This record gives sequence, structure tokens and C-alpha cells, in this order.
Amino acid sequence: MKEYDIEFAIIGAGFAGIIAAMQLAKKSYSDYTIFERASSVGGTWRDNTYPGCACDVSSYLYSIKEAPNPNWTKMYSSQAEILTYLKDVVTKNDIENHIVYDTEILEMQFDSNEAIWHLKDQNNKVYKAKFVLMAQGPLNRAVIPNFKGLDLFKGKYFHTSNWDHSCDLKNKKVAIIGTGASAIQVIPNIADQVNKLHVIQRTAAWILPRANPEIGATTKKMYSLFPFLEKMRREYIYWTNEFFGLAFIGNKFVNRIASNFALSYLKRKVTDETLRKKLTPTYTFGCKRVLLSKTYYPTFNKQQVSLHSTTISEIKEHSIILENKEELEVDVIIMATGFEAAELQVHTKILGVDGRNLIDRWKEEGVSAYKGCITHDVPNLFFILGPNTGLGHNSVLHMMESQMYYILDYIKQSKKLPSKSYLNLKLQVEEAYNKKLQSDLIGTVWNSGCKSWYLNSRGVNTTIYPRLNNRFRKEMKSFDLKSFECISIN
Ligand code: NAP
Repeated sequence: MKEYDIEFAIIGAGFAGIIAAMQLAKKSYSDYTIFERASSVGGTWRDNTYPGCACDVSSYLYSIKEAPNPNWTKMYSSQAEILTYLKDVVTKNDIENHIVYDTEILEMQFDSNEAIWHLKDQNNKVYKAKFVLMAQGPLNRAVIPNFKGLDLFKGKYFHTSNWDHSCDLKNKKVAIIGTGASAIQVIPNIADQVNKLHVIQRTAAWILPRANPEIGATTKKMYSLFPFLEKMRREYIYWTNEFFGLAFIGNKFVNRIASNFALSYLKRKVTDETLRKKLTPTYTFGCKRVLLSKTYYPTFNKQQVSLHSTTISEIKEHSIILENKEELEVDVIIMATGFEAAELQVHTKILGVDGRNLIDRWKEEGVSAYKGCITHDVPNLFFILGPNTGLGHNSVLHMMESQMYYILDYIKQSKKLPSKSYLNLKLQVEEAYNKKLQSDLIGTVWNSGCKSWYLNSRGVNTTIYPRLNNRFRKEMKSFDLKSFECISIN
């Protein structure tokens, strides 16, 4: 008789959870349940609905390998199209029946006597699972900075990831705080509606132009009839991105080509010298995420748009006071202020073999995992896109897929173990992996001195994989049983 209710518990029904489900099903593991805290699938592509929300990785690459879509309408898809695609994948792959909605798993405890995870939801309902796949995504905890006086503000304010669609921006005086990847998509898309748009920039971003052509009917037809053509396009985009990835991991020549190109683009688009100076980044190209847009710079030529390159000292009932004492009258404040990802990455209580909460351990020792997916004393639990698996140059879906290959091998090996035993990662293996990873980060752009969401409060990079994507795929190709101890249950 089974000692568990579910063989595989997947936490989260975004891209990572759906990729996990598809990969499990491919290996004929059908006893899986996806726990989703919301009422629908999509993760970040469900939550982020701000105007202009889109993916800056090409759709042919930012899609699941086993679920190509010949019908993408644009080279870079909108949030709505990506969400529709994901829903379609769920339907076509019979995943829907495996999803339990409105269920947030708040606590997980490993029972060492049975090698079973006990998962508790918000209603204290307990589910027993053999394996747990954490697929919550790294960017789901929005940051709203604690600006002095924000609680006194009489207008509306909201974060980009929680857009208030009831708030009509037409003819309003609007401020947007932040100039990261979300902001540069919002700004050109709201500029024409508002009466005034104040863009408050703390740090200028590196920006490259990105055209977004419509995909013609002939191309769609060709990809539909000959799927290998779409596959070839995917490969081409992937390897081009890998080449430019060299700019991030220490190749100064490629970095210079890319940064010079970005600066010449800025020069062409912004002729006003004072404005151009404000928009010129002062840190190494790639240290913060490089942004792609053809519409961002031209927005500043609009009369109603002002760039304030300074910090905020205070928010008042109807205005924002800048560091230089300038007062901006505003009705609405949009917080494009990003997410917390480097500090913890997981907020679910995870009690491993020693009963210690992984969150407490990570708070003390810093976030880390082996190959970004497994950590010692937390057996049979995997993070998809866990610590140090983020990229600056390519599709993170690739990272998720690579991790799943490894996890499937782990599962296969686990099933060969004598009954009443489980695998536990050796501490020294995890430590050696992370020591090497941190030393590989030295010399990369991400550790070149700027302050980004990739670094935690101690300045440690807990989010980025410091090598090229194809290297990660190779690392994840074969399962290394010797890195694990086989623990027998008495
Ligand atoms: P972000 O890149 O972290 O940008 C946050 C912005 O807010 C930065 O400009 C930051 O300035 C500013 N900021 C934060 N706190 C502030 C404060 N107290 N005062 C003034 N300014 C402040 O966040 P995001 O734009 O939401 O993007 C986060 C990540 O989401 C991206 O890096 C990317 O991985 C992902 N994303 C991807 C896409 C896509 O197309 N694939 C689109 C959107 C987002 P500083 O730079 O000075 O810190």
C-alpha cells in the first residue's frame, strides 16, 4: 500500500510548474498534483498585467520545447498572448485535472521515518507526497519601498505587478518610480493618456533597441507545416543569445561591442545633451539587466514626459518631494520598484530531516543550493529555477528544462533504491559547488560593483548562473549518484 497520497507535489502553476508536469508525464509519471495559490494558471504572466507587459526574449525561444507554437503573432509576445499559450499547453497536455487551485502550501515537513513530505495548506489540510517540486518562481514578492510619508498620500499608488485597472490614468498627473524592465514597458504605453508623466530614475539603465515585427501568415504556415523550421529558428536565436552572453561572463571585447552599440543608439535617439547625460548608464554593461526597447527613449521627446534623475526624499498628500527639493504634484504613483529575490527566494516553511526550517538556515547562512535545485537535509525536494539559475542573456525556460532532466534522473535512481531509504545530498558537495560558483561570478558583469536585485543584503549574488546556458545544460545532463548519501530508514 502507498504511504503517500501523491507521488509528486508541484508547487505553482506558472511556466516552471507546467514544464515540470509535462516532463513528469513524458516519463509516464502521472501521479502528480499541482498546488496553485491563485485561481488560474500563469504565475508571473497571470499577475503582471501592466500596460505594455511583454517578454523581451523571443517567443520562439521563450516557449516550451515540447510545445512549440507556430502561431506567435509577434517576435516578442505580449503578456496576454503568453498567458493564452500557457493555458493552451495546460489544456492540450491534460494538466488541468491535476491542478488544485486556491490552495497555498504554507508548510512542509519531511518525515524521516517514512521518507515522505507532509504538506499543509492554508486550511491545515495535510497532503502526503513522495517528491516535492518547488515551482514558485523567483519574482513574486513585489517591493514597495518604505518612502517617508507614503501612508499619507491621498492619491492612488500600486505596484506594476499588481496593476490597478480601475484607476483611469487619463488626464492624470502620474509618477512612475523606477526605470527597470517593467518600467520601460509601462512608460511608452501610458505616456499618451496622461496629463503629465514624471519618470523618477535612480539609476539609468543600459538599453538596446528591439524591433518587434509581426509574424506573417506565410511564416506561421511554414512553421505549422514544417515544425523543424521553427526549431531551427529557436536554435538560431538561442545560439545568438549565447554568443552575446559572452559579454556578461567576462569577455571584455564582446561587452565593449554591446555597450558601444547601446551608447550610439542613445546618441541617435536622444539629441538633447542634458537629457542624454541623465540617460547614460554609469556602471558596467550588464551588471543590472540590459533592457530592450525601441519606444522608451523617444517617449522622453513628448512634452508631457519629464525625467527626474534623482531620489525621493518624501511623499506628501498630493506630491512627491525629490532629493533636490523639487515638488512634483501627482494623482497616481506607479511603483516599478521591482521584486525581492536574492534574500530568501522561498517563503514556505520547509522542515528537513533535522526539523530545521530551511528559511532559518538560509537567513543565517545565505541562500544556496546544489545546481540551483537541491540542498542537503531536504531530500526529495527540488527547486526549479532555484538559487543561482537566473540569466542575463537567454531564456530561463531552458534552465528549467535542464533542471527537470536532472530531477528525472534523480527520481529514476531513487526508485532503484532499496525500499525504506532515500537520497540525501552530501554537504561537502553542495559547499564545493557553491564555492566554485561564487568564484566563477568574480569577473562577471553581475559582480562588477553595481547594486542590483541579483545581490542579497550581504552583497552575495544568489540569483545568477555565472556561465553560459549550454554549460548548465551539460552540467545537468548526467546524474551524479556519488554526490548523495543513501540513507536507510530503520
Ligand atoms: P527592477 O529591474 O528591479 O527595477 C526596479 C527599479 O526601481 C529600478 O530602476 C530601481 O532603481 C528602482 N527603485 C527601486 N527602489 C527604489 C527606491 N527606493 N527609490 C527609487 N527607485 C527605486 O524591477 P522590474 O523592472 O520589475 O524588473 C525585475 C525583473 O523582472 C527584471 O530584471 C526581469 O528579470 C523581469 N522582467 C522581465 C521582463 C521581460 O520582458 N522578460 C519584463 C519585466 C520584468 P535602481 O536601479 O537604482 O535600483
